[in-house]
Amino acid sequence: MEIVVSILFFVAMLFLIARALRTAIMGKGAYAEDRVARRLSRLPEEYRVFNDVYLRNRGRSVQIDHIVISRYGIFVIETKNYKGWVYGAEEAEYWTQNIYGHKYQLYNPIRQNSSHVGAICNILRINREKVIPIVVFAGSATVHCSADCPVIYLSQLHRVIDEHKIVMFDEAQVAQMAATLTSSLVVDKNRRREHIYEVREQIAEKERLTANGICPRCHGQLVVREGRYGQFIGCSNYPKCKYTLNV
Ligand SMILES: [Zn+2]
Repeated sequence: MEIVVSILFFVAMLFLIARALRTAIMGKGAYAEDRVARRLSRLPEEYRVFNDVYLRNRGRSVQIDHIVISRYGIFVIETKNYKGWVYGAEEAEYWTQNIYGHKYQLYNPIRQNSSHVGAICNILRINREKVIPIVVFAGSATVHCSADCPVIYLSQLHRVIDEHKIVMFDEAQVAQMAATLTSSLVVDKNRRREHIYEVREQIAEKERLTANGICPRCHGQLVVREGRYGQFIGCSNYPKCKYTLNV
């Protein structure tokens, strides 16, 4: 009996070490993406899955976690790996992560994914109705968000994809879109690295603007506003521009 217990303990330790190593090597985000990729690989063959996609759209780099091309539409999936509580509104610029009482901001993943959907529509020459944007939380976070588009946990991914069974494309169109996407992929390692720098640069530029009281979306003036939930920073061009920043 004791031997069985120690063997079990040993196996459990090995498992934990392997997982820790994996996370250390791949990075947390990549590990979550890998988990989603493994789930997607179990979809039937009629679904064409693309993981960790780098594309150029209108002179800008775009990185999309997962794209699934099917007769039932194009699924554009953004994967998030968070702990604690995550909450935010569909319209907000930023969401909040609350972990052991500490609050952190994250860029609204629905917005982030929406720009990816725009790029996919442009590259595949389709309209937005043919695209199903999905935000997947693959970490241990409890998520509170009321949104029209699915914001789900990893365990719900298959079911959400399965719920879409209205045929939008025929086989030939699916093959054509898969070919178009394949030919648009940036596969060169240096180009992919350039993309990471470019994104960092875009974030830095945004931070520079907001630090100087300039709206990064329309370059209007940022002003302090009084809202239902207290003060916040908004754009002077509201309601035309709905950019907000939490104080
Ligand atoms: Zn603005």
